[in-house]
Amino acid sequence: MDGAYVQILSDLRRGKLSHAILIDDGTPQAREDTARKAAQALVCTGEEKPCGVCSHCIKAAANAHADIMVFSGNGSPGSFKVDIVREIRRNASVMPNEAAVKVFILLSCETMNPAAQNALLKILEEPPQHVRFILTCNLAGSLLDTIRSRVTVYSLHTEQPAQQQARERAAFEIAGRILNSLALRDEKEVMLITAEFEKDRDWFSDVCVELSHLAFRVLVYQITGEGEADIYSSIADRFYGNQLQRISIICDEIYQAMQGNINANLLLSLFCARLFAELD
Ligand SMILES: [Zn+2]
Repeated sequence: MDGAYVQILSDLRRGKLSHAILIDDGTPQAREDTARKAAQALVCTGEEKPCGVCSHCIKAAANAHADIMVFSGNGSPGSFKVDIVREIRRNASVMPNEAAVKVFILLSCETMNPAAQNALLKILEEPPQHVRFILTCNLAGSLLDTIRSRVTVYSLHTEQPAQQQARERAAFEIAGRILNSLALRDEKEVMLITAEFEKDRDWFSDVCVELSHLAFRVLVYQITGEGEADIYSSIADRFYGNQLQRISIICDEIYQAMQGNINANLLLSLFCARLFAELD
């Protein structure tokens, strides 16, 4: 389950879900699936929404609920025209058939031209009590600011960047430990830290990138005194001449070699040997 959908459900269950939401990012199929699942939860009469067993849930799952209406253009730019929005407005003024609310799913809103968006804006500003909107769009930024300011945006794949950030932080932390061990000329410790790279080529690459950046930042600190003194000063004091520059270059070269077919264990030995060769 995507983090965005979990957030939508959580907001819905706490009664905090806005009457108009926008699902962006991810694939068109993932956006549509999320929109349909959210619509199901909106019409559900069960306790834990969506319960999956009430008549509303069953009809919604079969794409056969009379109060869930899906609108879209044909996928090409500008194809979601003002005529379609006018139809939505007419429909919105009619009370729901069987559910407490009427849900309008508007797919691929990036294909709305400005006229269509302006027409939509009118109803987003003063929606009838019983109406809920679920818009999907490739990126919220491709819509008019006035539309965006009236919807709550839920972005799919929210885990991905967070995961990536966590990975980068972890790689940076390992890079710091390696540079610190190099500063102490602790060859054994470097071997220990880098042993884990044997199993994970990508991880080795990531750490190379971070170590290259870090060595370069400490070098800049060494030369200019600019940077985070509390972290860099003790390390900077233990490197001489162009050692930091060389460490950074070795990391870049090993990283480049990693992208080819060369055996990772071979590169790992080379990596350690070359780093220590610079420190004699
Ligand atoms: Zn239900």
